Amino acid sequence: MAKEKTLCLIKPDAVKANHIGEIIAILESQHFSILKMKLMKMNLNLAEKFYNVHKGKPFFDELVKFMTSGEIVALVLERENPIGKLREIVGNTDSNLAEDGTIRNKFGTDKGQNAIHASDAQETANYEISVIFGK
Ligand code: ATP
Ligand code: MG
Repeated sequence: MAKEKTLCLIKPDAVKANHIGEIIAILESQHFSILKMKLMKMNLNLAEKFYNVHKGKPFFDELVKFMTSGEIVALVLERENPIGKLREIVGNTDSNLAEDGTIRNKFGTDKGQNAIHASDAQETANYEISVIFGK
């Protein structure tokens, strides 16, 4: 199987709680290679562009406020089946429902403050990588 890419964000709650290293260790243990990585703060424009697909949803304003509230770590990750595998180890959107051993189960708080973002499809990953890292 060919190697492909996905985008991962370590969200402000997990950065504030000093979980960057633990989360990256989990990713590397699952054979994700880090192709690009940066510590950054999203501004309003960038967060709205990144989450364009959620515009108009009831949680959009809360999401954008949360994602611009502090530093994040953005990563471009590579392995075989990266999107499916990352979604699996990230767990349910709601940290309280996230399966034992998943990243959100370990480090998330609730449905909004859930520690990590993972692209949900190849097209989305390509879009998100270009928004964060450029073409
Ligand atoms: P992500 O896109 O961050 O990997 P996801 O694909 O599991 O998460 P989405 O439905 O794409 O979930 O929602 C994007 C993000 O919006 C969620 O990760 C969460 O931070 C926030 N969110 C989603 N639903 C809610 C909600 N009902 N209340 C508060 N925040 C929410
Ligand atoms: Mg999503």
